[in-house]
Amino acid sequence: MQGLFPIRVAPHGASFECASGQTVLAAAISAGIWLPHSCKAGTCGSCELPMAAGAVGYAPGVIPPADGRCRTCQAFALQAVELVAPDVPREPGQRVVTAAGRVIGIHKPSPDVAIVTVQLPAASGFSFRPGQYADVILRDGSRRSYSMANRPGESGVIEWHIRRMEGGRFSTHACERLKERDVLRIQGPYGSFVLHEGTGPLVLLASGTGYAPIASLLHSHLPEMAARGAVLYWGGRKWSDLYAVDSVHAWQQRFPGVRLVPVLSEPDAGWSGRSGLVHQAVLQDLPDLSGHEVYACGNPLMIDAARQAFVSQAGLAAQRFHADAFVTTPR
Ligand SMILES: Cc1cc2nc3c(=O)[nH]c(=O)nc-3n(C[C@H](O)[C@H](O)[C@H](O)COP(=O)(O)OP(=O)(O)OC[C@H]3O[C@@H](n4cnc5c(N)ncnc54)[C@H](O)[C@@H]3O)c2cc1C
Repeated sequence: MQGLFPIRVAPHGASFECASGQTVLAAAISAGIWLPHSCKAGTCGSCELPMAAGAVGYAPGVIPPADGRCRTCQAFALQAVELVAPDVPREPGQRVVTAAGRVIGIHKPSPDVAIVTVQLPAASGFSFRPGQYADVILRDGSRRSYSMANRPGESGVIEWHIRRMEGGRFSTHACERLKERDVLRIQGPYGSFVLHEGTGPLVLLASGTGYAPIASLLHSHLPEMAARGAVLYWGGRKWSDLYAVDSVHAWQQRFPGVRLVPVLSEPDAGWSGRSGLVHQAVLQDLPDLSGHEVYACGNPLMIDAARQAFVSQAGLAAQRFHADAFVTTPR
């Protein structure tokens, strides 16, 4: 059926229209209604919402969520729909912008990571909240997502931490050939991995460049996060994967409420710190997470394992596990 379907967000009643052929999430974002989401590719589950009324459909081959929820990044409205999302503000907020950004700096803190700084034109109106990401649009229209690691408001400047993936198209380009003055087509902001109001202590869980959005959260909310107590468990295979330990130590010196626990899964022989899987180190130190809030970012397998273990073994409330999974583009 062709047409425009009204989508209402309960309980507060934000509403927007979804055209046939448009996904519910795309319609929401173009209306400035920030439904929760992360990968936009149907993989991470962040965008799934309970449906109080209506019906949605999916493209052939997409397996709908088993419990009748709406996977908004993949769902097409078939009639008027009511979604349940109590945390979504009623009024339209951010707008997605597409702009040409100029690379103004590239720094290689480790052999496999490039810190890329991009200047977006002030006139583009691009802005972001700490923890969000933006897409780079490649020549063939495909996209890659990268989280901003800096604090917003630095006159259109964004900083990305890009890990080189063996055989990966854009990440190898960024680490090996990208240079200052190159122009990138960028669209954003996207994502809902932002700091939620609360008072409980924080566990920050990162693998590799999963540190990037956490750095943005720390840059932007450091006194508040330190007052709550924040422990950053940062996992990598080798020490060089933890490419910004000095910055974390500098924050720690100013705000002792922030602590770093580095965890290596394949350490060199001389390593005397924590080893193994990063989420296991959290469970060893904090077997009761019932009063905590967790922000996890990076490898999707690490995120799934952490969510499952923290909720089932350590009493973490499922809604207090916030994550951005760095899923790669499906082929
Ligand atoms: C919300 C979000 C935020 C993200 N933020 C970050 C970030 O801050 N930093 C970061 O480093 N990454 C981030 N990512 C991941 C990033 O978007 C890219 O997916 C990643 O950099 C890989 O892109 P690529 O073009 O290099 O690899 P791709 O070309 O997409 O390849 C991905 C993987 O598939 C393999 N591959 C390639 N071709 C084939 C083939 N023909 N057959 C089988 N396998 C193949 C590659 O070797 C590689 O391992 C984020 C992802 C999401 C969803």
